Amino acid sequence: VIQIDDLHKAYGALEVLKGVSLSAPRGHVISLIGSSGSGKSTLLRCCNLLEDSQQGEILFKGEPLLWKGSGHNRRPADPRQVLRIRTNLSMVFQQFNLWAHMTILQNVMEAPLTVLRRERAEVEAAARKYLDKVGIGDKCDVFPAQLSGGQQQRAAIARALCMEPEALLFDEPTSALDPELEQEVVKVIKDLANEGRTMIIVTHDMKLAADVSDHVIFLHQGLIEEQGPPDMLFGAPKSERLRGFLSATH
Ligand code: ATP
Ligand code: MG
Repeated sequence: VIQIDDLHKAYGALEVLKGVSLSAPRGHVISLIGSSGSGKSTLLRCCNLLEDSQQGEILFKGEPLLWKGSGHNRRPADPRQVLRIRTNLSMVFQQFNLWAHMTILQNVMEAPLTVLRRERAEVEAAARKYLDKVGIGDKCDVFPAQLSGGQQQRAAIARALCMEPEALLFDEPTSALDPELEQEVVKVIKDLANEGRTMIIVTHDMKLAADVSDHVIFLHQGLIEEQGPPDMLFGAPKSERLRGFLSATH
């Protein structure tokens, strides 16, 4: 669904991604792990064009993103293509980012209505279906502040699903949660993986990465230090840095 080739990204003089490639084929779950500041969030945000980049290609379903300009002046050339890619790669954030002044149902319905301009009755039915799916179908009419963190994150996942995206992108979806609430979100993510959803997950939770991933990428200072299937990466890490990282996270 999404492919990145030799991506370079800098904030001014700070090089954050120094030539990173990844591929998330349909139905695959890719996990990104690595120390704080290694570039995980930046890479994820480049995937759905929340960040620009200076060099390298981004392909959505085999279709290359069109650029104009180069280097620090490089920008996507076609706003419709950007919208198509962004609406097909739904993001779930660490801090949920729900709209505080809208009910849970309104939160889930907002983007399909305003961005995709889908029909209201159809969107409402889909929103209720996805809220049921994540186990909070009874919370449609309350506001985010009335929910626990785990419930808010599940609402955010329902909101992402209601866009009917090609892939879901998660940035540390469980990091803001207490351990007991973390598990209810982990369960939803595992259900989505079992359904064959295409997902890229940035996580500090090595157990989650080991359980759901087809492929794990270990980033170090803006480069892929090691990657492979989870049993290899966690069971027989080759690089000294990965071994150090894994022993520090236990
Ligand atoms: P964490 O595990 O802490 O979330 P991360 O791997 O997600 O870390 P990024 O957020 O991608 O790391 O940041 C990579 C580097 O880019 C860091 O050095 C960070 O300070 C820098 N950076 C991130 N966002 C910006 C920004 N908007 N402006 C300038 N520098 C930034
Ligand atoms: Mg991050």
